[in-house]
Amino acid sequence: MTGVADEAPRYAQRMTDDAVQGAGAHRFSGPNDLHLHSNHSDGTETPAEVVRQAHAHGIRTLALTDHDRSTGWDEAADASASLGMTFLPGMELSAKYEWRSVHVLGYLFDPDDVALRAETDRIRGDRIGRAERIVRNIGRDYDLVWADVLAQTVGDATVGRPHIADALVARGIVSDRTAAFDGILHPREGYYEPHYAPDPLTAVSLITGAGGVAVIAHPVTSGRDRMMPVPYIKRLVDAGLGGFEVDHRENTEAGKKILRELAAAHDLIVTGSSDYHGAGKPNRPGENTTSDEMVARIIDRATGSEPRYA
Ligand code: AMP
Ligand code: FE
Ligand code: FE
Ligand code: ZN
Repeated sequence: MTGVADEAPRYAQRMTDDAVQGAGAHRFSGPNDLHLHSNHSDGTETPAEVVRQAHAHGIRTLALTDHDRSTGWDEAADASASLGMTFLPGMELSAKYEWRSVHVLGYLFDPDDVALRAETDRIRGDRIGRAERIVRNIGRDYDLVWADVLAQTVGDATVGRPHIADALVARGIVSDRTAAFDGILHPREGYYEPHYAPDPLTAVSLITGAGGVAVIAHPVTSGRDRMMPVPYIKRLVDAGLGGFEVDHRENTEAGKKILRELAAAHDLIVTGSSDYHGAGKPNRPGENTTSDEMVARIIDRATGSEPRYA
C-alpha cells in the first residue's frame, strides 16, 4: 500500500506554451464516453482494463473519472494511446448539498493543484473512518469486520460503500452490490454514516480554479437525490459550472427536460455517459454518449491539463 503522500500524479500532458488551445477539438473522434470508474475507486477493473472495455464497446474517446482521485490517468492514457483512442483526464468529486450527495465531474484540471488536492485528501481520509463506522454498525447484526472490506480494495482505492457491498457478498450475506445497496447499505436500514464532502459551490470552484471544467454528474436521479434548487444551480453557473450530465441511466426523463432547458438558457455543456463500474454496476460503456461538439467545448474551455491523443 502506498500513502497519499506518494501519490503525486505524473500525468504528463500539461498545457505547454505551444499548445494551441482549440486545435485539440479537431483531433479526437467519437463515440465519446466521459464517465467511467476503475479500481482506483469503486470500479472493479484496472484503468487499462476499463479502457479496453470501452474500446470493445466502440468508444473512441473516453474520460476516467474515479471518485476523488486522479492516480489512474497515466495507465489509462497509455492504454488509450495504444488502442488509437483519445483520453481525457477526469475525476468525480464528492460534494454535498444539505444531506444530499452531489457528484461533480471535473475534466482536464491540473492534478497538482494544491487546493484541489488538499480537498480530495481530506475527503478520501474521511471516507476511510466513515466506512469503518458503517462496518462497525453492520457488525452488530452481521458477521462483518473491517478486514473484510480491506480485502476488497486495491492499494489506496477511494473507499466507498461499494467495497462494503463486495465484502458483504464475499461473506455470503447478500448476492450482489445492488442487493447490498437496496438493503443493508440503504440509509433507512440504520447502518449508514455520512462522510465529509464540500458543498457543490466549493467543489465547482476548486475544479474551475484548477483549470478544469466542472459538470454536475447525474443531477436528477429518482428518489434518493432530488435536484438542487434552481437558484442554487444558478449560483454554481456564476461560480464557473460548465454543464450537466444529462444522458445518464439514473436521471429521470422529467429531470432531463429541466436540465436541457437550463443548459440552453445558460449556454452550458450537456454530456451523456455510462458511469461504468466494471462488474460493480449493470452500466455498460457507451450506453450513453456525449456529442463531438460538447467534447470540443470541454477541451476548448479547459486550461489545467491536455487530452492524450493517440
Ligand atoms: P458512497 O460514495 O460510499 O456513499 O457510495 C456511493 C457509490 O456507490 C456511488 O458512487 C455509486 O457508484 C455506487 N452505487 C450506488 N448505488 C449502487 C448500486 N445499486 N449498485 C452498485 N453501486 C452503487
Ligand atoms: Fe461510484
Ligand atoms: Fe456518481
Ligand atoms: Zn460515477
